[in-house]
Amino acid sequence: MTQVYNFSAGPAVLPKEVLRQAADEMLDWHGSGMSVMEMSHRGPEFISIAKQAEADLRELLAVPANYKVLFMQGGGLGQNAITPLNLLGRKPHGAASGPATIDFVHTGSWSGKSIKEAKRYANVNVAASGEASRFTTVPPQETWTLSADATYLHLCTNETIDGVEIGYVPTVQGDTPLVVDMSSHILSRQIDVSKYGVIFAGAQKNIGPAGLTITIVRDDLLDHALPICPGVFNWRAVAEADSMLNTPPTYAIYIAGLVFAHLKKLGGVAEMERRNIEKARLLYAALDADDFYQNRVAPEYRSRMNVPFYLRDESLNEQFLAGAKARGLLQLKGHKSVGGMRASIYNAMPIEGVQALIDYLNEFAGR
Ligand code: PMP
Repeated sequence: MTQVYNFSAGPAVLPKEVLRQAADEMLDWHGSGMSVMEMSHRGPEFISIAKQAEADLRELLAVPANYKVLFMQGGGLGQNAITPLNLLGRKPHGAASGPATIDFVHTGSWSGKSIKEAKRYANVNVAASGEASRFTTVPPQETWTLSADATYLHLCTNETIDGVEIGYVPTVQGDTPLVVDMSSHILSRQIDVSKYGVIFAGAQKNIGPAGLTITIVRDDLLDHALPICPGVFNWRAVAEADSMLNTPPTYAIYIAGLVFAHLKKLGGVAEMERRNIEKARLLYAALDADDFYQNRVAPEYRSRMNVPFYLRDESLNEQFLAGAKARGLLQLKGHKSVGGMRASIYNAMPIEGVQALIDYLNEFAGR
């Protein structure tokens, strides 16, 4: 097989070692005579797989004991939709009667979608928005107009389409829980889980295959669901059932577990962060070398994971993509809503892949 590098935003590249191990174990997992896909989720084999995956994820992120780790379905959009249903029963101190308020920081496409979902159930206060800058920056925290009585503050800390990443933990009003969509940068940088109320992420970028969603919830936030929240999406109910309330995405959990074990072997999240800083530094430097390419995001908010860029002469887009493909540099086309190009350089993208892309960027620009 020729060497290819896959820059897809998700489903995305997975570590080769993990895919090889999965291939080796495909027909017979650890002498059980079964593929993981064929196992009952309630049998001892699969339960051991799920428990190990959870333990390894907890270790990688140093998840404190007063947080539940849930293996769910429905993706990032699913969690966006059910977060209000799970939290709006919470009555913050000093909240006026009437509909609750959720604070949002609107940093791009995905926070925009979560705002739309939340409007079905609550007042939405957009405390800050990058829309005026076409999501190329995030307004400074001092300018955010946070509510005193918000049920929670929602942020997407890495906007996959816009390539905007917030690298700090925002200050909240009082004890307002912070809810973050980390779908596209979980495990790519060190975080202090104790600073957050809820963290969620679709698996299909830095974790494993599509179909699995990870939700990390602080214990005191498990009991505020609205009565209309479906049981299968009720965090408390899912936690009580050890994420086996219904049939979980067993194969996706298995692969995620292999990825977690692989990350531990490489040195954990600290080592991933070190590598990701270096990969992003090299790629942005190549894009910034002259004006042949353009990344429009303010440098302090540039994502280490998703790097959108435009060719100065957009009539060359197809030629650029065809040349990239011929060199084994795949899935570089930007999201349809913003056009241009996008290179997603998740944990599993080796530095050699970034270097190959940089070589091609230089060659195509005639440098
Ligand atoms: N949030 C973010 C930050 C995403 O990148 C995505 C998917 N690209 C989603 C939510 C939606 O995820 P899903 O397709 O798993 O619902």
